[in-house]
Amino acid sequence: MDPVIPVSAHERIYLDHAATTPLSPAARDAMAGFWREGGGFGNPSGVHREARAARRALDDTRELIGDDLGVEAGNVIFTSGGTESDNLAIIGGWAARMATGRDTFAGLPSMVVAAFEHHAVLEAARAAAAADGFVLHEVPSTADGLVDLDALEAVLDDRVAFVSVMAANNEVGTVQPMAAVSSLVHRHAPSAWLHTDAVQAAPWCDLAPLMADVDLLSISAHKFGGPSGTGVLALGPGAGVHPVIHGGGQERERRSGTPDVASVLGMGAAWADRPAGHPDQVAAVTRRRQRLEGILVARMPGLAISGAEVERLPNITHLRISGVEAEALVLLADEAGLAISAGASCASGALQPSHVLLAMGCPEDAARSGVRISLGTGTSEAEVDRVAEVFPGLVARLRD
Ligand code: PLP
Repeated sequence: MDPVIPVSAHERIYLDHAATTPLSPAARDAMAGFWREGGGFGNPSGVHREARAARRALDDTRELIGDDLGVEAGNVIFTSGGTESDNLAIIGGWAARMATGRDTFAGLPSMVVAAFEHHAVLEAARAAAAADGFVLHEVPSTADGLVDLDALEAVLDDRVAFVSVMAANNEVGTVQPMAAVSSLVHRHAPSAWLHTDAVQAAPWCDLAPLMADVDLLSISAHKFGGPSGTGVLALGPGAGVHPVIHGGGQERERRSGTPDVASVLGMGAAWADRPAGHPDQVAAVTRRRQRLEGILVARMPGLAISGAEVERLPNITHLRISGVEAEALVLLADEAGLAISAGASCASGALQPSHVLLAMGCPEDAARSGVRISLGTGTSEAEVDRVAEVFPGLVARLRD
């Protein structure tokens, strides 16, 4: 093969914002300010002035996020990110639900999750089911990447104690019908708690209406311009969690460990400035994604856009390209200066088909051919046009 011609002699084009985003200037300033002032070393559990300053910084962020979500500040639990928030919700939420009355649930209690959940939910639920001996239902997806509401309704009954459906899928970007999910759960499994993984929705969506529909909600700072390794699990009224991490009893006995105060401050600053609060940014990213999709569809035969007919996040486009292995395309794109990702992952030397695409009913081959391009607020129209120009050539090379 001829050498790959880079998109630009000097620059790279980063199109993997669903994996992580660059730290926003607001987050960087908030973190640097905290360290600079010299109070950043205070342990928020103490009683002296330094400790109180650190605690105030945590509590201000707790209040900010709690107010926006419509939950009490005390129900905003700081965690080490989306994975921990999901584990705490699933494992700790299940334990708390059982503690308040396993007998409420007729017969053997059960949990329901969508089959296309992030592994942080899916694997936590499988591990909890194996450890606690409860029944776990994994509800399939429609071909469009939405949770199948008929299949969900079919497994909901008064034995269901906990349900988890993500607000938006991280691989294909489909926005889930959470109001409909919530109303089905309330109708058929009235004692169940409903959790949503809002990690991908958080940058783009007003989460207050979503929080009103659920009992527990997970977010992760590094998806909206905050630092990685920091997140939140928010609890609605009546919901609770048993700790998964045991120790000094921080976060009101729900998550032990000295919090990373600077990162929490960075998360707060990024939260306050996230695109969801700037409709012009959301509209611009949506327009650019649509432009990219329009050009690619016109130029590339055999291209399918996952979830093309349903509501999706502004920034994610997921392409299934027949006859092309996703990982090879991602590597070739990298060589050309484009950072994109594959849903399918390489475990033990073999490319695994994406569990999201399998849940959507794709055959195994197609489930190995999906790539995700995810834009950010900093992605320019010129970059989109450059990608649209270069991408079809990369695919053609792999098909040769
Ligand atoms: N849930 C979803 C939907 C995600 O996209 C991710 C990250 O990719 C996570 C959970 C895990 O979040 P973190 O990287 O903060 O552990």
